[in-house]
Amino acid sequence: MKVHISMDMEGVAGVAAGADTTLGAPHYEYCRRLMTGECNAAIAGCFDAGAAEVVVNDSHGTMLNLLQEELDERARVVRGRPKPLGMMQALDRGMDATLFIGYHAAAGHGDGVLNHTMRGRDLLRVSLNGEMAGELRLNAAMAGWHGVPVALVSGDDVVCREARETLPGTGVVEVKEAIDKYTALSLHPGRARQAIRQGAASALERLAEIRPYRVDPPFALRIEWSSTSIASWCEGVPGVKRVSPREVEYVSSDYPEVYRLLRVLLMVASASTGTPHSYD
Ligand SMILES: [Zn+2]
Repeated sequence: MKVHISMDMEGVAGVAAGADTTLGAPHYEYCRRLMTGECNAAIAGCFDAGAAEVVVNDSHGTMLNLLQEELDERARVVRGRPKPLGMMQALDRGMDATLFIGYHAAAGHGDGVLNHTMRGRDLLRVSLNGEMAGELRLNAAMAGWHGVPVALVSGDDVVCREARETLPGTGVVEVKEAIDKYTALSLHPGRARQAIRQGAASALERLAEIRPYRVDPPFALRIEWSSTSIASWCEGVPGVKRVSPREVEYVSSDYPEVYRLLRVLLMVASASTGTPHSYD
């Protein structure tokens, strides 16, 4: 069994604010250790369940967060960006399952801790075929395209609710409760790691029962920006249609094309506003 792990940061136990997750911010160095700890718990759970190979994709911000030397030696890590499959890089290497660890709620979903979709600033809402799509759904659809089930999701109560609604059968591990976008009531990191290790192992042991998440083509990706100016820039990309002053839409039957186009539009937003491309 080959297992892929998409490792984000906002949904890690103990993480609550932008100062925790942004390179150079006051608590970042501490919180990347918390992230590395949860990643190790997930890796251990995979091997407990008999995995032969584990590949971790560092999926947050700069994608240079995990402390390599402190990671379980049995896993390999994709580090850096850009990469065509973004948060799902390496999924297309014959993986049997993927785990979403440290995940967070979609932009505007409840009071989810650090809720956003790919890009915190400027991006108000993403929908896929008319339904809200946060990173959980966008990435699950990519896994489904490759026939890979999402075995486990960990994060706050809001992303766990998204997972239960979108991915029936997928295991969930709730490591904190959202009080506000920037406030969490969290488990101790040690307890969170125990739960993730056990959750990963038990989900992989019943993997045959977990179906890949499928979205029917064609795929209509709609993005609502905070500014009409960003929508105006995006409209310049061939195939992208302006559907309202602040919204653009792109339709294709090729999901990886849609996913990659979203990432290009994030770069357009970054360039057009002159603000850094920090996201995921
Ligand atoms: Zn992130």
